[in-house]
Amino acid sequence: MTLPTLAQLAERARRLDGRGYKAYKSLAGGYASEGLQLWIDHVQGDPFAAPSRLRAVLPDAGLPEWARETPARCVAAADFLNRALRARFGQASSRRGSGRGGELSVLVPGQQVLERTSLVVFEDGEVEARFTLGLPARGRRVMGRAAAELLSEDLPRALGCLRGEELDLPALRRQLETVDDAQALRAQLAPRGLVAFVAEGALLPRRSGVDDRPLGEGAVPFAAPPELRVTLRAPHAGEVPGLGIPAGVTLIVGGGFHGKSTLLRALERGVYDHVPGDGRERVVTVADAVKVRAEDGRAVTGVDIGGFIGDLPGGQDTRAFSSANASGSTSQAAAVIEALEAEATCLLIDEDTSATNFMLRDARMQALIAREHEPITPYLDRARGLAERGVSTVLVVGGAGDYFDVADTVIALEAYAPRCATEAARRIAAELPSQRQAEAHPWEPPRPRRLDLSSLDARKGRREASVKVPAPDRCLFGAREVALAAVEQLVEPAQVRAIARALLWAREHAAEREVSALAREVLSAIEDEGVEVVQDWLSGDLARFRRAELVAFLSRLRGLRVEPG
Ligand code: ADP
Ligand code: MG
Repeated sequence: MTLPTLAQLAERARRLDGRGYKAYKSLAGGYASEGLQLWIDHVQGDPFAAPSRLRAVLPDAGLPEWARETPARCVAAADFLNRALRARFGQASSRRGSGRGGELSVLVPGQQVLERTSLVVFEDGEVEARFTLGLPARGRRVMGRAAAELLSEDLPRALGCLRGEELDLPALRRQLETVDDAQALRAQLAPRGLVAFVAEGALLPRRSGVDDRPLGEGAVPFAAPPELRVTLRAPHAGEVPGLGIPAGVTLIVGGGFHGKSTLLRALERGVYDHVPGDGRERVVTVADAVKVRAEDGRAVTGVDIGGFIGDLPGGQDTRAFSSANASGSTSQAAAVIEALEAEATCLLIDEDTSATNFMLRDARMQALIAREHEPITPYLDRARGLAERGVSTVLVVGGAGDYFDVADTVIALEAYAPRCATEAARRIAAELPSQRQAEAHPWEPPRPRRLDLSSLDARKGRREASVKVPAPDRCLFGAREVALAAVEQLVEPAQVRAIARALLWAREHAAEREVSALAREVLSAIEDEGVEVVQDWLSGDLARFRRAELVAFLSRLRGLRVEPG
């Protein structure tokens, strides 16, 4: 079968001029010209609806071989092309007519290099881009000539930016080498007994709480304290010195506003690779590190928080704890157990976003409130046991010096400069004993949760499944809203969409019911077939995610059901 040409597409579009908007539907299908296939996969129903979905396939985009020699390089190159296309569309978009007519858009990547369905580079040199176009209208009538020009001239010209000859090859190479290096650094963590690494000179602060780009002027480059300095090897950068955070329990201490949370946030994001110029290119954390925090008001379903919380007033079972409105402490306990379900080997905790009573009960409080009347075993009494079971903690504390007793490593920040304070903290712990009693009863491994998959239901009205992501921290999953602001390692809305779709995929296809195994099953299907395995149509709005965020999302779903254990 030979496809009609782009010239024929233009001719068809011109012939539709002045007709009702629905006439555009006849353009759906594939077209081909020299070195380019254009697929119009979905035509919008009216000028104000979500724009039409298109796909361009460049069978041989002329990318250099080094840009696609490994799957990881294909992902990094695709990320680079996505950004190039985004920039080009920004210039090319020529608004025409009403609504979003003429607007070309493609998924907007953040500071991370991620696998996304918006742009795919194949090892054989094929490049596929998925994007949207608002087909132009005057009122509700087809603007045929404008559409012809957009589809057969503006668009192919813009897509030229994906070709080897138009690409900024030195910048592409920089991006691939940056990602190679980050992955090599991350791979050295576990064998060297580390959970994280921050290279000398890294720039950690961001422009603002809502702008993830580097701060720029005024940022103090990271300098590793000599006692904690390690040197890792990167294939391109060579020897990279920096701070190595060992496995075990690590405290980040320091006065308010001295950069503690900024360091922790960089570690949270260190599970991802970053684009050149981000400042955190060589800040890496073990890939399964999970940020854990309090989130009162969230839903919790069937989580065994018994290791942290015993008998509650009212006799609620905490070995299968459910609440539509968790407290600070129960929400944080649930977050820890959910991280363990995702098989995290490192928990990242910031005092700023923790429940005080979950973190600590000090000597005076122990004296006033008898142990029998306090259901909580604070994290302080669990951190060592977790570390001995292979789950490290990196904890920001400004106030709770009792943690000195359980720390292997203490890093103090002074005006953003880290100093090793392990010895000093030990000395102080010996000179000023905390007086508190350890409170832990023996740790029993949390009971696994088995999901009732039918509760992963996104029906809405007559629609079998409706998933909307109106903001990066919100998902409308059928009739339910899932609040994700506290899932801090979700970095792009496309990840949220992919997770929601993955849950619907799991509902139909998963063999596993236990949360841990289910998360592993979903991610292994994605590893084998790409993130697109989660839905049966093509779209350019999905991105790769981790097991931890999948578990975090499903755990926040109100009305989730677990089978009685
Ligand atoms: P803490 O958690 O210790 O109270 P934060 O990490 O919130 O402190 O940092 C306080 C402020 O300092 C923030 O505005 C942050 O952007 C800024 N900051 C953090 N690290 C640096 C740095 N290395 N250089 C310049 N500014 C920084
Ligand atoms: Mg802070």
